[in-house]
Amino acid sequence: MASMKKTISEMQEAKSAGQCVVVVTIEAVDVEKSWYYTACNICNRRVVRKVNDFDAIENHVQLNPRYNCIACKKDVEQVIHCYYLVLRVTDKSKAKAKFLLFNNAAHKLIRRSAFELVEEAAEGNPWILPQSLTDVIGRKVLFWITIKSYGLKEQNSTYVVDQLVDDA
Ligand SMILES: [Zn+2]
Repeated sequence: MASMKKTISEMQEAKSAGQCVVVVTIEAVDVEKSWYYTACNICNRRVVRKVNDFDAIENHVQLNPRYNCIACKKDVEQVIHCYYLVLRVTDKSKAKAKFLLFNNAAHKLIRRSAFELVEEAAEGNPWILPQSLTDVIGRKVLFWITIKSYGLKEQNSTYVVDQLVDDA
C-alpha cells in the first residue's frame, strides 16, 4: 500500500493509469452542481421532473411530483435520491483537486442517506447546504482513486472516489 500512496500533485502528474491512495483534507463542498440527483427506484437512473407540476402549484392543487424515466419509458412516482457529491480537496503538496463521490462512497463519508438530507433541506432553504454536508469540511480522509485518464493536470480535473477510510 505504501507504494500506492500519492500526493494530489503526484496523482495529477501520474504517467499511467491505476489505483492510488491519497490522504487529503476536505476544503469545501462544490456547489456548481447539485449534490444529489433524483433517480427511478426501479432502474436507479436519473429521472426528469415533469414540467406540468407547475400548473398544479399555480392552481393550488397538491399533487405528488411526477417524474419520467427514460430508461423504463414511463412516468414514475416512487423515486430515490442519490448522492453526486463533489468535494474540493487539498493536501500537504498544496495541490488542489475535485473528488466525486457517488452514492455509496458519499453515504459512508456522511454516515446518512441522501434521502434523509434531501428531506431535511426541503424543510428549510433548498439552496443552503445541509449541516451534515458542511460538517465534512476540514476532515482528513484517505481516498482510493482509480486514475483512468492520466495527465489531468488542470485544476478542474475531477477524480472519482472508489473507496474511503474516514478520519485518516
Ligand atoms: Zn427507471
